[in-house]
Amino acid sequence: MNVDERITEVPGIGKKSAAELASIGIHTLMDMVLYPPRSYDDRREERFLSDATPDNPSIACRITVISHSQFPSKRSGMTLKATCIDDEGRKLELLCFNRPFMKDMLKLGSSWYITSPAIERSRNGIYSTASFELKRSKEEAGIGKILPVYPLTGSITEKMLRNASAYAISALSPFPDELPFEMYQRLSLLHHNDAYRLIHYPENDSDIINARRTLAFTELLLMELAILRGKGSRKKKQGAESKAEAELVSSLPFSLTQDQVSAAAEIRADLDSGTPMNRLLQGDVGSGKTLVAWIAALHEIQKGNQVAFMAPTELLARQHAEGAAELLSPLGIRIAFLTGNVKGQSRKLLLESLRKGITDLVVGTHALFSEDVSFNRLKLVIIDEQHRFGVQQREALKNKGIDASILSMTATPIPRTLALTLFADLDVSTLQTMPSGRIPVKTYLVSDKKRDDMYQSIAVEFQRGHQAYFVYPRIDDEGESDLRDVTHMHEELKSRYPGVPSALIHSKLPEEEKIRILHDFRAKKIMYLTATSVVEVGIDIPDATCMVIEHADIFGLAALHQLRGRVGRSILPSYCFLVFSSNLSAEAKARLSVMKETNDGFRIAEKDLEIRGPGEMAGDRQSGFLRLRFASLTSDLDLIEQARIEAERIAREDPGLLSIENAHLRIALKEQC
Ligand code: ADP
Ligand code: MG
Repeated sequence: MNVDERITEVPGIGKKSAAELASIGIHTLMDMVLYPPRSYDDRREERFLSDATPDNPSIACRITVISHSQFPSKRSGMTLKATCIDDEGRKLELLCFNRPFMKDMLKLGSSWYITSPAIERSRNGIYSTASFELKRSKEEAGIGKILPVYPLTGSITEKMLRNASAYAISALSPFPDELPFEMYQRLSLLHHNDAYRLIHYPENDSDIINARRTLAFTELLLMELAILRGKGSRKKKQGAESKAEAELVSSLPFSLTQDQVSAAAEIRADLDSGTPMNRLLQGDVGSGKTLVAWIAALHEIQKGNQVAFMAPTELLARQHAEGAAELLSPLGIRIAFLTGNVKGQSRKLLLESLRKGITDLVVGTHALFSEDVSFNRLKLVIIDEQHRFGVQQREALKNKGIDASILSMTATPIPRTLALTLFADLDVSTLQTMPSGRIPVKTYLVSDKKRDDMYQSIAVEFQRGHQAYFVYPRIDDEGESDLRDVTHMHEELKSRYPGVPSALIHSKLPEEEKIRILHDFRAKKIMYLTATSVVEVGIDIPDATCMVIEHADIFGLAALHQLRGRVGRSILPSYCFLVFSSNLSAEAKARLSVMKETNDGFRIAEKDLEIRGPGEMAGDRQSGFLRLRFASLTSDLDLIEQARIEAERIAREDPGLLSIENAHLRIALKEQC
C-alpha cells in the first residue's frame, strides 16, 4: 500500500476522527507511523488491581464476576453494578450506566481480561470503574505485551490510535531502508522496517531505545544535510583586510585574539561574496565581540555603504557610539547616534544625513527602525545582544536596506552543536578564547549571615581604587515581598562606606540621568553603583572588580552570567559575590553551584539547557524544517554530533546525493523543502 494512503483507510476511522487526527498532523497512514508514542504501557507482567495507583490508574488484569445488582441511573434507565474479584481476591465494581443488558454477558462465575485507563479505589478498599474493556483472552487484552501510549486529542482514544498504528504498520510494511545500507551496521542502527514497528510495538526495553535512536538519527541526518546544502550555495571568497582595517587594529593598545582574527576574516569573506550575509557572532561576555563588529562595519563602509548598529538599551547604544567615535572617527568615518530621545531639529538633520548617505554608521536602539528612518545604501545591520530583539524587529531593520547583510551578536552562548542546529540558516563564528591577561572572576557564594566579611573585602578594593556593582532585584519595597531593594540598600551602603562616592541607578531614572551616572562611573567620580539589573547587558567598565548580586537565587543562570560579566574585563583580579537566603530550592542550588564551578559561558549555557530545557532558547529561531518527532535537541547532543559528521561525509563524497544508496535521502530532503 502507498505511504500516502489516507488515515480513513483504517477501519473505524471516519470523517470526524480524521479531522481531529489532522489537527495533530496525522493525515496519512505514514503520518501515523511517524507519530511517536509518548510512553508505553508495559503489560508484560501479570498485574492485579492493587497495582492501580492514583498516579497510574490504568490496569490490565484477570477478573471473575461474583455478583450483580441494579439501580436506577440518574437520568433514565438502569445501571448494572457487576462485582468481580481479581486473582489476589480484591474486589472491583464495574459500573455499566444505562446498560443493564450487560448482565447477560457478565455471567456469574465468568472470567475476563479487563483493561481500563481509570480505576479508582474507595476508602473501604473496593476498586471501581465505569470505563473499561473486557476481553476473553490475554492476547486480545494486550497482556504480555508493551503497548504504545500516544498523546491524544479531542475525542480520539488510545484504542483508536493503537488500532490505527497497528493497521498502518501492517499495511505499509515492509518499510524500505532510508539510510545507505552500510550505515546500519557501522552505527548499530535498526533497519527502518524494524525501527518503525518497534517504536510502536517494542518487545523489550532495548527495542525502544534502539528504535528511537535510529529514527532520531535519521531525522537529524536529514536536518544536517539540509543545513549543509543551504551553506553550499554561498560562494566563499576571502575578503582582504584593507589598509584602514589594519590601521584600526594597530591603533589598539592590545592585539586581537586569534578568534577575533578568524571571525573578522569569515565576516569579510561573507560581505564580499555577493550574497547577503546572515552570521551569528557568539562569544562569552567580555570576549571582545564589539571590536569584530567595528572591523566588519569598517569593511562595509569602505565599499561606500552604510552600516546600522542596534543595541537593546539606550545605555548600551550610547556606550557603543562612544566606542565607535573613539576608534572609527579618526579614520574619517561619519557616525551618528539615534534613539527615541533624539527629537526635533536634531532628529530631522540626522535622518536627512542618513537618507542622503552622508552618515556612514548609525548606532542606536530599536528607534533605528522607526518608520521615518530611511537609508541611502544600508548594506550591513549589526545587532548586539540579538536575543533581546524579536524576529520582527530584526527583520524590520534589515528591510531598510536592499540585500543587507546581518551580523547578530550574542553573549548568551549556545552550545555549538545546538547553535548550528537552531540557527540552521545562519553561519556561526565563535569567540572561544578570552583576550589574554584576563583572570577568571572568582565567585563566592555568600549566605545572608556572612555578608559582613564580604563588605570588608570590598572596602579593601575601594582603597585600591577599584569599583563595584551592588545588584538587587527590586527598585523599592512596594508590596509585601521581603526582597531587598536598591532604594533602601543604597542608604545602608552609604552608611557602611562613608565618604565613598556612589550612585543609585535603575530603569525608572530619566535616560539623561542614567547616562550621566554611567559617565561618572567610567570617570571614577563614582566608585560603586547600587543597581537593578539595568547594568546587566554590555556595560564595559574596566576598573570595576566587584559584583555583588543579592538574592542571587532568584536570578536565572543567563542573567547571573551576564551580570558577573560586568567585572573581570581587564587584567585586574575580580570577584563576584552571590548572596543567597537560607531556604534555597533544589533548582536554585543547582544554578548557584554552576556559577561557582565555572566561568565558561558555554558550560553555563549547557547546564542552563539541562536545568530548563531548550524551549526558551529555541524561541522564534526554530527554523522551518525543525519539526523533530523522535530526536530531542536537549538530550540528543551526541546523536546530533554524529549526524553532522555523517552528513559532512556524505556531502563530500556525493554532494548531489546521486548514488543509489543515497536515493532515499535525496527524496526525503526534497520533500522537506
Ligand atoms: P563582549 O564580547 O562582551 O561584547 P566587549 O566587546 O565589550 O565584549 O569587550 C570587552 C572588553 O575587552 C572591552 O573593554 C574591549 O576593549 C576589550 N578587548 C576586546 N578585544 C580585546 C583583546 N584582543 N585584548 C584585550 N582586550 C580586548
Ligand atoms: Mg557586548
